[in-house]
Amino acid sequence: MLEVQSLVKTYGAFRALGPVTFSLGREDRVLGVVGPSGCGKSTLLRVLAGLDPLTGGTVRLDGTPITGARPDVAVVFQEPRLLPWATVRANIELGIWDQPASDRAAAVQAALAQVQLPAFGNALPRQLSGGMAQRVGIARALVRRPRLLLMDEPFAALDPLTRLRMQDHLLEMVGQEVPNVVIITHDIDEALALSDRILVLAGPPGEIRADLKIDLPQP
Ligand code: ADP
Ligand code: ADP
Repeated sequence: MLEVQSLVKTYGAFRALGPVTFSLGREDRVLGVVGPSGCGKSTLLRVLAGLDPLTGGTVRLDGTPITGARPDVAVVFQEPRLLPWATVRANIELGIWDQPASDRAAAVQAALAQVQLPAFGNALPRQLSGGMAQRVGIARALVRRPRLLLMDEPFAALDPLTRLRMQDHLLEMVGQEVPNVVIITHDIDEALALSDRILVLAGPPGEIRADLKIDLPQP
């Protein structure tokens, strides 16, 4: 269970986010986060990732406060952020640097297959297209089999067909290999296709409607 209570993030006097309150149970596998540019979506993700300290409120994952980066939380940014001088395989292996070396090769190969790049382990990032590099960034997060996967517009750089494939893969994994996903998207079709729950952050900051549940009429 991810519990976010009265979360506020300010930069100096400027409130970038909140207060926002919501919780995400195991049954709410995917939370889609939508809202206009500048409403604090990326800020929320950085705070959930423990990459940016919160200013007010609390964030707990399975009862434990999130106070910094955690081994069971993985992040996919808009850009892949790969090390340019390291191979694709080495970049993905960084996601599990803390695990026994004997386990890593198979895990990396499985992650490469999940993003449909099984033959690209020895490639360097500059040899990849933008979309392929982004998929390597996704593999680096998936290889951890995180308890919570945080994604900031992860598929925006992909061509439409690859995007649909990656959405399908994500749906195959959530609930099992990856219990909960929080995904920021500006694409309402993507939000509706992937989400069990949608959080609408509506600007300006301070007038946020948290935890809006959207009910779709049954046919
Ligand atoms: P979104 O992802 O919804 O577009 P962000 O979370 O990136 O919004 O930003 C929310 C607001 O906080 C914006 O007005 C942005 O300019 C501001 N902001 C984000 N990061 C910082 C920072 N490090 N310092 C100051 N202001 C920031
Ligand atoms: P982008 O979104 O930057 O165009 P994509 O990942 O969608 O990048 O792929 C662009 C091109 O890269 C594809 O049209 C294809 O030619 C090549 N490519 C992508 N994935 C593979 C793959 N698994 N095997 C071989 N070629 C691929």
